[in-house]
Amino acid sequence: MANRFFAESPIAGDQAELSGSEAHHAIHVMRLGIGDSITLFDGTGMEYHARIEHADRRRLGLSILDCRLVDRELPFTLSLAVALPKGDRQRWLIEKATELGVTRLIPLVTARGVAQPSTSSLKRLRRTVVEASKQCGRNVLMRIEESLTWTACVSSLTKEENRWVAHPSSEGLSLAAARRSRAATQSLVVAIGPEGGFTPAEIREASAAGWKIVSLGPRLLRIETAAIAIASAVVS
Ligand code: SAH
Repeated sequence: MANRFFAESPIAGDQAELSGSEAHHAIHVMRLGIGDSITLFDGTGMEYHARIEHADRRRLGLSILDCRLVDRELPFTLSLAVALPKGDRQRWLIEKATELGVTRLIPLVTARGVAQPSTSSLKRLRRTVVEASKQCGRNVLMRIEESLTWTACVSSLTKEENRWVAHPSSEGLSLAAARRSRAATQSLVVAIGPEGGFTPAEIREASAAGWKIVSLGPRLLRIETAAIAIASAVVS
């Protein structure tokens, strides 16, 4: 997946331009120039083969040679609703979720949760999605949605065919049993709690709304470990 670049605006016609960090990456990191060919994607699912026609210090002018719909998405919608960890662990989670094909990530506000992502950190996280997509070949970006409170999450995602809440409880279904209960193409939303865990009231609220409690065994996992363990189990 070498020489893949992301176009911020959807590509239309036979010309395109790269500026900002993408142009910087092409010109100064990859040392590409006039006549070199690159692969472009714009988040619509299309993949474009392009040639560099103009290059200056900040901008690349491209001609589009061909375009194809290249689908590297999952055969179902996978949503992760996560009380996000901080700093590097948050970025790690976003990168791995993107690589695994997660459709969308919903930051959760829970009773024991800590700070929610600010506008600038959401922007950084969206940049992480782009970087991971360049590397792994996704042509559709994982969406990072607006934060939801737990109550809003529980009550608004009723259309998802399967709703699981990860909780270290001996009363929960094992991950293997939860996987067996779901057809491979059905949509799935998985909720992961904060470092302090979901409160008993939050778990009761989800259970009453039809969410399944899923346990990953007797060890307490970090937020990002729990999220990626479940995502990787359901995408394979
Ligand atoms: N201190 C909390 C653990 C929180 S871990 C407690 O004692 O309950 C952060 C989140 O990761 C949890 O809310 C849960 O969603 C998920 N998680 C961690 N370990 C898990 C396990 N063994 N089974 C299921 N979910 C787990």
